[in-house]
Amino acid sequence: MKALLVIDMLNDFCHKNGKFYSKRMNKLVKKVKNAIEIAKKKNIPIIYCCDNHEKNDIEIKKWGEHAIKNTWGCEIINELKPVSNNFVVRKRCYNSFGEGNLKTNLDNLLKKLKVKEIILVGGLTDCCILLTACGAFYRGYDVTVIKDCVDSISKKNHEKGLYYLRFLSNAKIISLRQFDKNY
Ligand SMILES: [Zn+2]
Repeated sequence: MKALLVIDMLNDFCHKNGKFYSKRMNKLVKKVKNAIEIAKKKNIPIIYCCDNHEKNDIEIKKWGEHAIKNTWGCEIINELKPVSNNFVVRKRCYNSFGEGNLKTNLDNLLKKLKVKEIILVGGLTDCCILLTACGAFYRGYDVTVIKDCVDSISKKNHEKGLYYLRFLSNAKIISLRQFDKNY
C-alpha cells in the first residue's frame, strides 16, 4: 500500500496573508491539488502532515512564530481542504514522524493502513520534505517524491533538497505525469 503525504500546505506558508508566505509555495497549491485528485482516483490514502506549534517550540526560536495551534495560520489552505476519509497528522517539528518527545501518530497510522511506500508533496523540499523522507527511510518505508509537487523558498534550495532526498533517503523522484500515468 502507498500513501500520499501532503506536507505543510497551510495558510502561513501558502496564502498571501500568511506569516511565511512564499510565491513559490502559493504556486504549488494547484499542482498539489492535481496530485491529490490523482491519488483519490487510484484509491491511495491521503495524509495531511501539518505544522501545529506551541509558542515555545524549539523551531519558533529559530524561525519566529508560524502555524501556531488554533490560529488561521496553521489551517490547511482552502483549496486543499481535507475531506472526511483523509487523515490529518499534527506536528511540531520538520520531521512528520516527530523527534524525541514530539513524536506524532504518523508511524502508527501508516502501519494501520499497511503502507510500505510514502509519496511526498508540499514543502519545503529542503526542510520538512527532506526530514520526513529521512524519518521514513529510518523506519523502513520506501520514499517517492513528486518533483513538480514540492518546492522551497528558491529554485536553488529546491534543487539542493532534491539532491539530498536522493542522496540521504534513497528517494525515487518522479513527475506528476508519471504519478498519473504509470504509478
Ligand atoms: Zn514549523
